[in-house]
Amino acid sequence: MSTSGKLTLITGPSGVGKGTLVNQLLERHPKIWLSVSATTRSPRQGEQDGINYFFHSRAGFEALVAEGGFLEWAEFAGNCYGTPRRPVEQQMAGGRPVLLEIELEGARQVRRSFPDGFQIFLAPPSFEELERRIRGRGTDSEEAIERRLIRAQEELKAQHEFDAVVTNDDLESALQQVETLMELS
Ligand code: 5GP
Repeated sequence: MSTSGKLTLITGPSGVGKGTLVNQLLERHPKIWLSVSATTRSPRQGEQDGINYFFHSRAGFEALVAEGGFLEWAEFAGNCYGTPRRPVEQQMAGGRPVLLEIELEGARQVRRSFPDGFQIFLAPPSFEELERRIRGRGTDSEEAIERRLIRAQEELKAQHEFDAVVTNDDLESALQQVETLMELS
């Protein structure tokens, strides 16, 4: 029997509610281990280093890239984001279900290195609703919002690449679908 834990990845456009869904999932299933990403983005209010992200300067991030420290990394809306490699490998070797919440380019890279991983695309009920949610968050500049909306259109076009698409219309129903897909319920 293999002792290696399963890898599940959740992608979806900015503002679709990935963060809320993932937090709920972790609350309900403490055995899941969520990877904490590295980023060059500045912390939003309330975000803590090492908990929400590992916050790095561009130079610090590039040094980690150069030493092969990331399982995948990508540029998103002007900032770099990456999944630290070692902790993911350690948790998988320890048999824990591992969850990554990352954007499309990173998902494509992970698909190549972990073809057995399961990839879920979280979709909004409509583009208009997505825009409303991104604007409603009130944390980003107009320029950042525009970049995120353009990127969202590209991500939505790629949903067919994923093993499953879950529409986040009603959070509870989306959660239950993800639980079923991850064989948690
Ligand atoms: P935010 O700035 O809103 O926290 O995240 C922006 C985007 O970056 C989101 O789509 C999020 O899923 C993605 N992201 C977060 N961490 C990573 C990572 O480690 N790698 C990649 N490729 N994307 C990430």
